[in-house]
Amino acid sequence: MNDLSATKTSAAAGTTPNNMAFSGLPLSPAALANLVSLGYTTMTPIQAASLPLALAGHDLIAQAQTGSGKTAAFALALLARLQTKKPDTQALVLCPTRELADQVTQEIRRLARSEDNIKALTLCGGVPIRNQLDSLAHGAHIVVGTPGRIVDHLERGSLPLASLNTLVLDEADRMLDMGFAEEIAAIAAQCPRDRQTLLFSATYPEGIEQISRRFLRNPREVKLSAQPNANKIRQRFYEVAEDQRLHAVGLLLNHYRPERTLAFCNTKAQCRDLVAVLQAQGIAALALHGDLEQRERDQVLIQFANRSCPVLVATDVAARGLDISGLEAVINVDITPDAELHTHRVGRTGRADAQGWAFSLASLDEMGRVGRIDEMQGRAGEFHPLTELTPTGSGPLCAPMVTLQILGGRKEKIRPGDVLGALTGSAGFAAAQIGKINVNEFSTYVAVAREIADAALRALNAGTVKGKRVKARPMEG
Ligand code: AMP
Repeated sequence: MNDLSATKTSAAAGTTPNNMAFSGLPLSPAALANLVSLGYTTMTPIQAASLPLALAGHDLIAQAQTGSGKTAAFALALLARLQTKKPDTQALVLCPTRELADQVTQEIRRLARSEDNIKALTLCGGVPIRNQLDSLAHGAHIVVGTPGRIVDHLERGSLPLASLNTLVLDEADRMLDMGFAEEIAAIAAQCPRDRQTLLFSATYPEGIEQISRRFLRNPREVKLSAQPNANKIRQRFYEVAEDQRLHAVGLLLNHYRPERTLAFCNTKAQCRDLVAVLQAQGIAALALHGDLEQRERDQVLIQFANRSCPVLVATDVAARGLDISGLEAVINVDITPDAELHTHRVGRTGRADAQGWAFSLASLDEMGRVGRIDEMQGRAGEFHPLTELTPTGSGPLCAPMVTLQILGGRKEKIRPGDVLGALTGSAGFAAAQIGKINVNEFSTYVAVAREIADAALRALNAGTVKGKRVKARPMEG
C-alpha cells in the first residue's frame, strides 16, 4: 500500500464521544431518527472514520472486518445521495457471497426505512435469473450482488448503470480470493467515470492495491488502530496449576460453548499438546503453526471460518496477519510476557453487535505478567475459580457445520454458485443448510449443516457440478 497516494485517517475506539455521534453528520433528520429507532446511538470506529469522508464524496479504501458496522458505513453514504424519484439504479454493491449480499441488502433496507419507496435488490448466482429479470424490470435504486451474476446481467443488458453514483466493493480481499478480479474489472468498466467508489477490505493483499490504482480516484485510506472495543469484551482470568492448564481449556469450552474460539499458546509444543488433549475430550480442534504447508494452512483457516471447526489453536506468530476477528471467544492458554500482545490477542473477540469473551489461564508464576496487563489496561483482571466451570449443553462442544472438499476449483472454472446449485437443485437441500463456499485453485470447500453432511456428500459424488462429475470427501474437523 506504500506507493498509493492515499491520505491516511486513523480512528481508535477511544475517540471522544462527540466525534462518535451520528448527529454530527450531514444526514437528514429522518435518517438520524431512524438510526435512533434502530438503537444505533454511537458510531462504531469504522463509521466514525469513514462516514465524514464518504459523505463528502471521497473515494475510500477502508480496512474493516465483518461485525465492525462497515455496512452502515457505506450504506448511509449511498443512501444520502439517492434520488428516490429517479427509478434508475444509482448504487451497486459487490459482495463475495450470496450470504453477505443478503445481509447487506437487509441492512440497507433497515437504514432506508426513513424514506419511502427505496428499492434495494439482491442479484446473486445460484438462483434462476428469470425472477431477477422481472424484478429489474420494475426498477431498483440499489443493487447488491455477487460479481458473476452482475456480469451476467450486464451482458444481457438487463442492468443499466448509466445513472450509477456509487460503486461499493465489499470484502474486496475475499472477492479476489474467490477469483472475481476479472468480473470486478468488467463491472467497473461499465460504471460511469464520474462516480464514487468505496472499497472495504479486511486485509490488503497485492491485488487490492492494483484494484484501487485502477478503479479509485484519489482515495482516502481509513485504517483502524488495533485497539479493541473494550466495552464489548468481557475478560476473565482463572488461576490454574501447571498440570490443570490444558484440561481447563476444555472446561471453558464446554461451559461457555462459544461457536468459534481462538486459543493462543506461547509455544508450538503447547499448541500440539492442547490439540491432543482437546481431541481426546471429543472437541474438534485444529492447530495453526509455522510448520504447515500453505495448502494445509488454507484448509485449517477455511474450516475455522466456515464454522466447521470450533477451536483454532495458534501461536502469536502463526496468527499474525490473519483475517480472523469477531470471534465469540479468545483463550490465553498461556499468559504472554508482552502486555501489548495480550491486548492484540483479546481484540480478536467482540463484534459491533455482540459481546466477546476473553479468558486467560494464569499460574502463580505468571502473576507478574498479569500485573503488567492490569497496568496497561488500567484495571485489575477479574479472577474466577475453575470450580465454577460446569459442562452445559449436551456432550462435548461440536461445530454446527462440516466441510466437504470437492476436487476441482478455479482451474475447472467452478464458482460458488455452481456448488450451491448442485446442492440446492436436484439434490434438494435448503440454501439455509449450506454455509460458506470457498473456491481455491484446485479444490472447492463447502460447509454444510452437520445433519446433512453424509447425504450431501453422497449427492455431490453421485451428481454433477457445472455439468461435470466430481469427487468429494469430508474433511476432518
Ligand atoms: P456489519 O459489520 O456491517 O455486518 O455490522 C455488524 C452489526 O452491527 C449489524 O448487526 C449492525 O446492525 C450493527 N451495527 C452497525 N452499526 C451500528 C451502530 N452504530 N450501533 C449499533 N449497532 C450497529
